[in-house]
Amino acid sequence: MKSHVRAVVIGGGVVGCSVLYHLAKAGWSDVMLIERSELTSGSSWHAAGGFHTLNGDPNVAKLQAYTVSLYKELEELSGQSCGLHLTGGVMMADTPERMDFLRLVHAKGRYLGMETELITPSEAKAMFPLMDESNFVGALWDPVEGHLDPSGTTHAYARAARKLGAEIVLRNRVVELTQEPDGTWNVVTEQGTVKADHVVNAGGLWAREVGRMAGLELPVLAMEHMYLLTEDMPEVLDFNARTGRELVGVIDFKGEIYTRQERSGILLGTYEKACKPWSPVETPWDFGHELLAPDLDRIAPSLEVGFRHFPALENAGIKQIINGPFTFAPDGNPLVGPVPGLTNYWTACGVMAGFSQGGGVGLALSQWMVDGDPGADIWGMDVSRYGEWATLRYTNAKVRENYSRRFSISFPNEELPAARPQQTTPLYDIMVRDNHAVMGDSWGLETPLWFAPSAEEAHDVLSFHRSNDFEHVGREVRATRESVGVTEISNFAKYEVTGDGAEAFLNRLMTNTMPKTGRIVLTPMLNEAGKLIGDFTIAKMDAARFMVWGSIAAQKYHMRWFQQHLPSDGSVAIRRLGINLVGLSIAGPNARKVLEKLTDDDVSGSAFRFMDVREMDVHAAPCIVNRITYTGDLGYEIWMEPAYQRRVYDGIRQAGEEFGIVDFGMRALLAMRLEKNFPTWFRELRPIYGPFEAGMDRFVKLSKDDFIGREAAAKEQADGLKLMRTSFLVDALDADVMGDEPVWAKVGDTDYGTVEKPHGYGAPRFDADGKEIAKPEGGTLRDGDWRVVGWITSGGYAHSIGSSMAQGYIPSALANDGSEGMFEIEILGIRRPARIALEPPFDPAGDKMRS
Ligand SMILES: Cc1cc2nc3c(=O)[nH]c(=O)nc-3n(C[C@H](O)[C@H](O)[C@H](O)COP(=O)(O)OP(=O)(O)OC[C@H]3O[C@@H](n4cnc5c(N)ncnc54)[C@H](O)[C@@H]3O)c2cc1C
Repeated sequence: MKSHVRAVVIGGGVVGCSVLYHLAKAGWSDVMLIERSELTSGSSWHAAGGFHTLNGDPNVAKLQAYTVSLYKELEELSGQSCGLHLTGGVMMADTPERMDFLRLVHAKGRYLGMETELITPSEAKAMFPLMDESNFVGALWDPVEGHLDPSGTTHAYARAARKLGAEIVLRNRVVELTQEPDGTWNVVTEQGTVKADHVVNAGGLWAREVGRMAGLELPVLAMEHMYLLTEDMPEVLDFNARTGRELVGVIDFKGEIYTRQERSGILLGTYEKACKPWSPVETPWDFGHELLAPDLDRIAPSLEVGFRHFPALENAGIKQIINGPFTFAPDGNPLVGPVPGLTNYWTACGVMAGFSQGGGVGLALSQWMVDGDPGADIWGMDVSRYGEWATLRYTNAKVRENYSRRFSISFPNEELPAARPQQTTPLYDIMVRDNHAVMGDSWGLETPLWFAPSAEEAHDVLSFHRSNDFEHVGREVRATRESVGVTEISNFAKYEVTGDGAEAFLNRLMTNTMPKTGRIVLTPMLNEAGKLIGDFTIAKMDAARFMVWGSIAAQKYHMRWFQQHLPSDGSVAIRRLGINLVGLSIAGPNARKVLEKLTDDDVSGSAFRFMDVREMDVHAAPCIVNRITYTGDLGYEIWMEPAYQRRVYDGIRQAGEEFGIVDFGMRALLAMRLEKNFPTWFRELRPIYGPFEAGMDRFVKLSKDDFIGREAAAKEQADGLKLMRTSFLVDALDADVMGDEPVWAKVGDTDYGTVEKPHGYGAPRFDADGKEIAKPEGGTLRDGDWRVVGWITSGGYAHSIGSSMAQGYIPSALANDGSEGMFEIEILGIRRPARIALEPPFDPAGDKMRS
């Protein structure tokens, strides 16, 4: 065993081995993997080995597609078989709602180059004749699905890594981690200590324990998971003999079941509602290659449905039941990346689908470690997406919720109830009890979404279509636009940046020039590659004090970046204020009249101008007031310590009474910003876009002193833009866009080339005789003169102008074409006409917000 290496990967499951392979492939051959026992001694050995590309997050889906495409190369490189069976699979819908969900998945897949197809239950039955198709209304065919040998695949990664120079040490537990002042780690093992510049926690079932070695409580929990294997089945043997093909994989959402062929029988697994955490507080070190006791009672409801939907199974003998634990993060996606607040400590854990995601996780993490950037938009997997509120018991509640909903429909207006309320502001009771607010979860903080007329009506009716909130959100928008509304805006990230070096520091990080004292700027933040990694509002309070507001969910992500770039001379300090600073916004033409009644300051249009900031008393409470609002109206953001929030809110309500003030929620706020063509962070603004294609030109000052990403941004502008963020007016029916829909354009043979091409791999679809069915002409991206040219990032109904709206990215050559009949957006499988909104439909010149 070497005594000093560049990186130690802790854990020899599929994920650790993939990280090791990718690090070595990226040129870090001086790396070591340390495994407590033999390779695959955690979850990896008893996995069902299924893989697929589909994921709710398109960026995670891309990494899954990479994982699947890697296996052939890995086999060649390592000389080790992965036991690959690329069978394809069907997802079965038993209700119209589930079919809507599959249509959405299918449409999303288009711009990712996935060649899924919507098919009939009979067509699905042709590929899996064990089903009783009368239970279903339709299905989705995914050619890039299958199964493999988990142990073979893990060893293939390991062998390939060894060939590239990496070292693997087996039967040696890491027992302690200590860090030197220079940031290097002492990895204390049973066989001695290894010094490492970096450590990677790929501890799988023991990721929490390996986290605790560095003082971390990672939001990871293992759940028991069962699948059963049948004896050989005559129906399977007959199908194989008749068609010369293997059965395809099936997901039956109703039964919470996945199933596929295993040898000449069937493997059937469940994500049962009555799910059970395993070792909720601590994972025993002596657990290894043993299985947990099966508990058929727990999965009996799923099996009952399964026997109805796949009648042949009822008579099949059960050969073995596997019950094993594997880990989940609260949202079911992995935890990857550098841990905020620590140096050179990386995670690659919480990977619940190691054989779909392991390759992508390894690739992203190795690029991050070697090049300083993951090379892809991996926000959905970033370890920084959780705050300190994701405690052990929070994680327990959320993981159970996630597991039991794995095969449930996720509706766009759905707020999940587990572990809530976690954090509340002082207005919580007033909002819920008195104002009948329907609350949402913003990074663990309860936030009003909309206001119902009565307590009985204060809930969302789940739907892909416009729902029961529609008219109430409309009322909130119109009342605000016509007079004045108030909303809680505590769900922002807030930072205080102080010190002699504060201005220079912010100038180096941000693309805009810093404001004069008493003024505000909006500014993107870029990475070295010139891509968007933040979008902030910054106010200069005095020469050495700035207030910074950003996205609540990106707090840890941004703090990680800020801390990495802090000058070492101590001239800058950053404080994350969290909910120690809370906020209210008043907006609408009468907003000034309301504020005037609450303060002795002169807040006239000339004394307190658009983009001014001032510390002033509001209803006798000390506040920071920004003359700015995300609704695009005349408006103010008022910030205060929580102790004052009820008082300020009461004052606003009283002062606004004569103007008919209304409460409005996040949904109204987001609807109003659509009418102004304002983008949002994590939807329109993400690390895959440059600032110019995102339409942020006026906030990027290429002429100012150097800033991070300047060179790349200048190049983006000089080279000409491939894509442009674009707003659309959509002729929608009763459903608005939800995000990730494809944008079709009538472009004839011109190929604008921004949408991913189909992967070119995948299983063929076949009929009952085993004969291949040709793919639809043009695949999923072409239809006569129409082509998929882009994708939607967000949208909804713009109530004050009375139109459905959407934002998305399309080729820049098309972005100025405001003509009718040029674009269509596919909403729930129906292509609806859309027209580019070349300027904001509400107050295009911005006169109202400047008034
Ligand atoms: C029943 C079942 C069915 C499944 N089916 C599928 C499926 O069909 N498809 C799919 O993609 N996934 C499936 N999974 C999930 C899959 O197994 C996991 O996603 C995957 O194994 C996670 O791999 P890992 O490397 O992160 O963790 P693990 O496999 O748990 O590996 C972690 C390794 O780290 C080692 N380790 C931990 N701490 C230390 C230490 N301190 N020192 C040294 N070594 C240490 C452990 O010994 C272990 O070998 C299934 C899981 C189960 C239980």
